[in-house]
Amino acid sequence: MSELIRLTAAELAAKLSSGEVSSEEATRAHLDRIAAVDGALNAFLATDADVSLAAAREIDARRAAGEALGELAGVPLAVKDVLVTTDMPSTSGSRILEGYRSPYDATAVAKARAAGLVSIGKTNMDEFAMGSSTENSAYGPTRNQWAADRVPGGSGGGSAVAVGAFEAPLALGSDTGGSIRQPAALTGTVGVKPTYGGVSRYGAIALASSLDQIGPCARTVLDTALLHDVIAGHDRHDSTSLDFAWPSMAEAARGGADPASLKGLRVGVVKQLMLDGLQPGVQARFDESLALLEAQGAEIVEIDAPHFEYAVAAYYLILPAEASSNLAKYDSVRFGLRVTPDGGGTVESVMSETRAAGFGTEVKRRIILGTYALSAGYYDAYYGSAQKVRTLIQRDFASAFDRVDVIASPTAPTTAWQLGAHGGDPLQDYLNDATTIPANLAGIPGLSLPIGTASEDGLPVGLQLMAPAFEDARLYRAGSAIESLITERDGSPFWAQAPSLAGASTGEAAN
Ligand code: GLN
Repeated sequence: MSELIRLTAAELAAKLSSGEVSSEEATRAHLDRIAAVDGALNAFLATDADVSLAAAREIDARRAAGEALGELAGVPLAVKDVLVTTDMPSTSGSRILEGYRSPYDATAVAKARAAGLVSIGKTNMDEFAMGSSTENSAYGPTRNQWAADRVPGGSGGGSAVAVGAFEAPLALGSDTGGSIRQPAALTGTVGVKPTYGGVSRYGAIALASSLDQIGPCARTVLDTALLHDVIAGHDRHDSTSLDFAWPSMAEAARGGADPASLKGLRVGVVKQLMLDGLQPGVQARFDESLALLEAQGAEIVEIDAPHFEYAVAAYYLILPAEASSNLAKYDSVRFGLRVTPDGGGTVESVMSETRAAGFGTEVKRRIILGTYALSAGYYDAYYGSAQKVRTLIQRDFASAFDRVDVIASPTAPTTAWQLGAHGGDPLQDYLNDATTIPANLAGIPGLSLPIGTASEDGLPVGLQLMAPAFEDARLYRAGSAIESLITERDGSPFWAQAPSLAGASTGEAAN
């Protein structure tokens, strides 16, 4: 395995800026890695070596010409296929957008390019970001780099595995109910959902607009922070993006690297997030990490959040309602697939046959559910009630943050399950989101980092930290401190403990 791919983004950036390594070399090393292992993992839906290497060479030329470049200039970046890009197709994991080429770049991608990052490919995901395992992708599931028979979580399993398996040092994801944080937990990587509106959603193929947020994925807290700094900020193309002077997340992460910074931190543990179905190994690792925090002088405070119990139910009304409306635009006319029935058909039959062929089961289920929840006679009973619950959850968070600085929970109630284990039962997937959904309903930031493996299956366990809106930097500071403690405990960074895929060769794609 090339040494270059094992560097963190921060380390690689330093070698690029000193001239020790060129972006072309770094990009080629990652493309080679993808060629070697992605047949087995299926983390990428599209790569284009010519395009990526040309972009890398351009950065090298600009550096050689003495241009002042951003800190991450030349570093390869994987992009979740929910973000539209001009360089490769953008499908959001759906047949209905197969081969679709966008005429513009999503703002997060445009900002990354402007900062000199090199797009290395589009990553696999559950169709339209609906799912918790990446098994709902129309292009076959992604496999967990820790164990090929396990799911990587979802919907952003591709981005999480891309960074975890050293196919890219950095990746972009989207998080509507946990799709950055839960895959991070299940793959032993780091993922952050910023404050709602902190990063522009322009060019993110919309799932549920009041919940969607774009964020960074990487192997270390500092690396996610560096990418966060690049993509954050106001965008006139997204009216929900915040005009706010964000502090440097990288500075916060660097400042937190000394665990002594945890002294006096008030950490809330929400009773209702310590679910009955918590896997014993997840519970054990979580309790251990609380003990590590306490040993550094952090104070653990038990929090009651009575309305969290209804979060999953409210989310699975609000999300389908918004999704059914957002997905109405796939009408066979404006985007992607068109199925014409024998004999030509009518406008209606072309539309309905296209949607029948282009959407997968989970997407159809949510469109039907959402359309029903929004229908005239039921709007107040379902959508209206769910919005009221959302307000109550926001109030639970507000009173919690009167007493604590951050909230900690297991990121997901279980470790990665076997492919197919949920047998197409959507409820089992939905319940895996119980710990991540509240943050989306409240618009607050959340970070997941690995804290060890569960003794029963040897698979990664994630810790989730949440902070009040606008306090993303607090997550990076605390997350970085916890990461240092875990590295100290284990004698090596967590990402270095993943079973080596060095020998993996191009295997069967998992379709
Ligand atoms: N698993 C959740 C869902 O299926 C999360 C989706 C997401 O964050 N995009 O809706």
